[in-house]
Parts: sequence; C-alpha cells; structure tokens
Amino acid sequence: MKEITVISGKGGTGKTSLVACLVALAERPVVADCDVDAADLHLVLSPEIKKTEDFSGGKSAKIIPEKCTGCGKCYEVCRFGAVVKGQKERAAYSIDHIACEGCGVCSYFCPEKAIEFKPCVNGQWFISDTPYGPMVHARLGIAEENSGKLVTLVRGQARAIAERDNLNYIINDGPPGIGCPVIASVTGADCVLIVTEPTVSGEHDLERVIELVRHFRIPAYVCINKFDINTGMSERITKKARESGAEVIGRIRYDRTVTEAQIKKLPVVAFKESPSAIDIREAWENILKKIDSKNKGV
Ligand code: SF4
Ligand code: SF4
Repeated sequence: MKEITVISGKGGTGKTSLVACLVALAERPVVADCDVDAADLHLVLSPEIKKTEDFSGGKSAKIIPEKCTGCGKCYEVCRFGAVVKGQKERAAYSIDHIACEGCGVCSYFCPEKAIEFKPCVNGQWFISDTPYGPMVHARLGIAEENSGKLVTLVRGQARAIAERDNLNYIINDGPPGIGCPVIASVTGADCVLIVTEPTVSGEHDLERVIELVRHFRIPAYVCINKFDINTGMSERITKKARESGAEVIGRIRYDRTVTEAQIKKLPVVAFKESPSAIDIREAWENILKKIDSKNKGV
C-alpha cells in the first residue's frame, strides 16, 4: 500500500481538481480529504455518507451559574481573555467559547468547583462511498482549532480502510500552507506531490513547501498546473525545484475543459482527450514509476 499526499503552498492552484483526477485514475484508492478547514473535495467526488462520528479535539470550560459566587478568580487567571465579566454582583462571569484555549487553569483555581472542564465537540468526520472508492472526510466547526489532530484521525481511518479492503493506494488531499495541518498530512507519507502554478507567488510558496517536505525526508515531486500561461516562469520553477531536490513530474496545460468538468461535478480526466486529461494521466504514470522505483531501491 502506498500513501500519496498532494499539497500546495497556497490555495487556488487547482490542487483539489488534480486530486479528484488522481483518485479517478488510481483504480479504487482510499481518498482522505485532509483539508479539514475548507474541505471541498466532496464537491467533485459526490460522496454518499455511510458513517458519521463527532470529533473532539480538546476540552473547554463552562461556568455553572448556581455554584459561582462571583469571586473573579477565573477572570484573574485566564491568560487568553476568555472569561467575560458581566454586570451583576453574583454569577457575573461567563466564558467566551471562541476565545477559550482549553487550558483548564480557571477550572483548577476556581474555589467553588464551579467550572466544568469537559471534552467538547469541534466537528464531525465521515466515511463515505464515492464512484471511485471509499472516502474519509471531515468538517471542523467554525473557529475551531486542532485541525492537525483531525487530519491525523482522517488519515488513520483511511489507512484502516485500505488495510481492511486490501487497497493499493491512499491519496490525501492536503491543506494549503505550511502549518500544523500540513505537517499532519505529510508525515509518514510515501511521497508528496506539490501542485504549483507559474506565478511569482506560486514560485515563492513552492520554495517554502519543498523545504517543509524535505525536512521530513519525504520524496517530493512537483506538478506545474497551467504551465503554458507563463513558460518562462515554469522554467524557473523547474530549475528551482530541481535545485531543492524535488523533480517536476507533471506539466498540465491550461484547459477550458476543467471548468466544464467542474460544472458537471466530474474530474477532468473523464474528458479523456482533453489536453489537461492527457497531461494528468502522464503525471500519474510518472508518480507510479517513482513509487515503484523506490520500492526496487533505485
Ligand atoms: S472562580 Fe469560580 S466562583 Fe469565582 S467567579 Fe469564577 S466561576 Fe465563579
Ligand atoms: S480553560 Fe483556559 S482559556 Fe479557557 S477560560 Fe479557562 S483559563 Fe481561560
């Protein structure tokens, strides 16, 4: 079983559309949508949800008004400004759920044991069927944190399904950027495919993301989307990627069929003869060759 994580230094590079195509080409992989803060792979893969579970990423504090004497100790000790002072004499404090970091200090110091500190539900995760194979995905609540923990959970479930059903590939749609959820989506993967575009910001973000992947000693490959809109910049990106130890294994032409495919909620490889479908198939074959040669120790 091989696990491939697809990431991009920034949003809007066409990463999710490419992931949908790889999923369609991989012949029944497990797909994990690790972009839990802004999941959108479901828009292309039309999953049918089979199982829903709550996700608890931490604890949060809640004042029980009947027990609170209004001493103000919680207000004094909270370093995150999450305890809100009211106007009344008694039971005058409450907790701002959005600002609460779940450290538990207020609960520890409350002399009346008037602050509950319990696991809270931050989101949900799902196991679904898609026309291309099983999918694990999630939805994090608005302003909720711990997305790295949720990514780890989604990947763990995807691996369990792949092992149970003896499936050959896990394809992770990673989040943009270089933060904690990205790290959670790349660590331990067999390879990382970085999707970029030939723009100044694409070039800059690519450098940061290659550095991150190299730090974890994971083989990194690059795919330049819409490479022909600025061939000079594509050449620069190819050179920079090579110098950083990440080979460019795909160059996808700009193609209006991509928009047509999005409208029809299909991966563009469904339009077999379109320029981008041809390029994406070639990129996928290159990835497979790389994974195979790694297996053989080449
Ligand atoms: S520390 Fe406890 S008793 Fe004091 S104001 Fe806060 S919740 Fe109320
Ligand atoms: S749990 Fe921590 S962050 Fe939340 S209200 Fe209490 S002291 Fe503040």
